[in-house]
Amino acid sequence: MAGNTASPVAAGETGQELSTGADWEYAPAPESRDIVTIRDEYGLFIGGEFTAPLSGEYFTTINPATEEPLARVAQAGKADVGRAVASARQAYEQTWGRMPGAERAKYLYRIARVIQERAREFAVLESLDNGKPIKESRDVDIPLAAAHFFYHAGWADKLAYAGFGPEPRPIGVAGQVIPWNFPLLMAAWKLAPALATGNTCVLKPAETTPLSALLLAEVIEEAGLPPGTVSIITGDGRTGRELVAHPGVDKIAFTGSTEVGKEIQRAIAGTGKKLTLELGGKAANIVFDDAPLDQAVEGIVNGIFFNQGHVCCAGSRLLAQESIAEPLLDRLKQRLETLRLGDPLDKNTDIGAINSREQLDKIRGLTAAGEAEGAERWSPPCPLPAKGYWFPPTVFSGVSQSHRIAREEIFGPVLSVLTFRTPDEAVAKANNTPYGLSAGVWTEKGSRILSMAQRLRAGVVWANTYNRFDPASPFGGYQESGFGREGGRAGLAAYLHG
Ligand code: NDP
Repeated sequence: MAGNTASPVAAGETGQELSTGADWEYAPAPESRDIVTIRDEYGLFIGGEFTAPLSGEYFTTINPATEEPLARVAQAGKADVGRAVASARQAYEQTWGRMPGAERAKYLYRIARVIQERAREFAVLESLDNGKPIKESRDVDIPLAAAHFFYHAGWADKLAYAGFGPEPRPIGVAGQVIPWNFPLLMAAWKLAPALATGNTCVLKPAETTPLSALLLAEVIEEAGLPPGTVSIITGDGRTGRELVAHPGVDKIAFTGSTEVGKEIQRAIAGTGKKLTLELGGKAANIVFDDAPLDQAVEGIVNGIFFNQGHVCCAGSRLLAQESIAEPLLDRLKQRLETLRLGDPLDKNTDIGAINSREQLDKIRGLTAAGEAEGAERWSPPCPLPAKGYWFPPTVFSGVSQSHRIAREEIFGPVLSVLTFRTPDEAVAKANNTPYGLSAGVWTEKGSRILSMAQRLRAGVVWANTYNRFDPASPFGGYQESGFGREGGRAGLAAYLHG
């Protein structure tokens, strides 16, 4: 892989290989970055305009694929957070909070349309700042972000008929803190339902991926939202902490690590602030012996190697029924040899860069622990670029439940393979985790799908597919994966009183 040669692909049950005729070279097919104008320096988006931070501090955001600096970005301090919350309060009381739902909808439709119009720009910018392959930012992140605004625009004037009582009331000012794995999409997940229900927002993107949220600020300006309805304040964890602690915030919505989620819960205990937490996961992707194996292999690859495994609901534990474990693993390895790792802007790239050195170190640490604890490590031949942060797709077999790689969220392109004999054992192993965000089931029996879905303690269970998202479908977890739902009617409830 990554050496620009396509390896043969496995073919069916016969064990024969389907030759592609020749080992061919892929010519590079890079998306042009000219479509994006990245400013040298970004201020904070507060009260409907970009302003310099009162803190006077800036930090640099880099391209993780090349380590090249992209821009200097403002670090919001306590006074900046105060300004943003005050402008959100004012907008809530004077404009947005009083606006009829049908009017709010028009603004949300406008945002959705402008995201679509500027989709290529967003996709290139997201891949530059995050390191994810352009085919994912182009085909998943950006269209889904637009879809979230479209979907919630549709709800804005129908809330009185949604089962929340005749006059559902917004909560007020929402403080929203998001991670770096899906920067624009997570911003859309947070902003769209909050705005549709009449709340105003102060959003803090992650330190390593602020640029698409700042481009979204331009879109919000272009869509003409009343000043203060949305503020976007960049900064690191300190900014997030100030936002969470600010007494003018009525609701906190957080997506990120379980550790920070717990810290937030402690920080706001007793304040009366509402809270939703979407945290980590260690999902089981369960393959039964009657599953179509080639399809399952695609689902496993999509489950753990999509977005370099930086996905909270990633299928990071493969549970394979013992009778098919060996052929499944063989096919999986053959498939992984065809994945292409490299330049995120190349349209042929399947696996991009790891988002930060810190995350790369974490992945390296946990995979070293996997080897030390006795699991068998495998990666396809995979030369890594000399600069930037890279990690090859990695599979661990012979994993036992006590291994750290079976218990901890690695948040990287690393799959731990375990086996089971009976459905009961599969359920017991899948549920043997402090998390409870998602799971996958591969079988041709409908009755088994239903019974497994009932017994798996996970917020989302995919059947014969993986990592499918839709704004109409609620998403969220149990236990250490957090609480509250995002998306669908359930997601609206998180932003309404009652
Ligand atoms: P964090 O939970 O630290 O970051 C998520 C967001 O919270 C970021 O915007 C971050 O800011 C902000 N933040 C950090 N500390 C605080 C705080 N005390 N109060 C309020 N906000 C805060 O995740 P990391 O990016 O550090 O990643 C660490 C690990 O977390 C990963 O290795 C992965 O395992 C897991 N993770 C899980 C995610 C999920 O969706 N389940 C998403 C991201 C990470 P900043 O980035 O600027 O520090």
